Amino acid sequence: PAMTDLLKLENVETFYGRVMAIRGVSLSVLEGKIVSIMGSNGAGKTTILKTISGALDPFKGSIKLDGNEISSQDPDVVARMGVAHVPEGREVFSLLSVRDNLMLGAYCRRDRGAVQQDFEKVLGWFPDLRSFIDKQAAYLSGGQQQMLALGRAFMQKPRLMLLDEPSLGLSPRLIGEIFDIIKHINREEGVTMLLVEQNAAVALETCDFGYVMETGRIVMEGDRDRLLASENIQEFYLGVK
Ligand code: ATP
Repeated sequence: PAMTDLLKLENVETFYGRVMAIRGVSLSVLEGKIVSIMGSNGAGKTTILKTISGALDPFKGSIKLDGNEISSQDPDVVARMGVAHVPEGREVFSLLSVRDNLMLGAYCRRDRGAVQQDFEKVLGWFPDLRSFIDKQAAYLSGGQQQMLALGRAFMQKPRLMLLDEPSLGLSPRLIGEIFDIIKHINREEGVTMLLVEQNAAVALETCDFGYVMETGRIVMEGDRDRLLASENIQEFYLGVK
């Protein structure tokens, strides 16, 4: 089958007031792939994800999901079209139970049987969540909250997941566990991923294709092997001399 772009951005510009945070970004995410956006703090990675999910409106440019223009749509419309945003800092509902957090992810779905199956899948991937199932999410550790945020996004039954720094603040062991599940959700459940990461080593280990951002622009792109071989990437992002 021909490879199709599930997501395509063309010349997107996003402002905070008069400050231009995204300066004409074009990128594509092929259906079925994991694509990463790397870059240092403040490069604009979070702003790109918020512009895609509808939390921010772009000033210019086009954002197409499966060929349909979604720029400036409300976040709930974009979510219903199949995009799940896992924000930086997880943003789980800390006073609700783990169960209610997960079920809230599925609030738009009518396929009750499949929702129950997906719920069991999430608890199979993340046994910690099962042991806290009726406890408030506030009792979870940072890593467990990241698991919950991922699980909640999966409960939406998305075609595309937007992941904002899932590795942030986690131990190497937990990062490994969480990224194994991210790859599993991609390969076995067929969910396309757009992953934002400051941790370039983790991003490159996981992705099929990557972009590097600096001050609101894309400065480099390529498939994983090309990026891994790049001297700039080795020196500035992987700390290899
Ligand atoms: P990180 O994820 O590490 O925060 P980032 O690459 O995601 O970094 P963004 O958060 O997208 O970067 O920020 C891009 C630029 O926009 C930065 O210069 C930042 O200071 C600015 N910015 C971000 N949020 C706001 C805001 N609410 N108001 C004004 N400027 C902002």
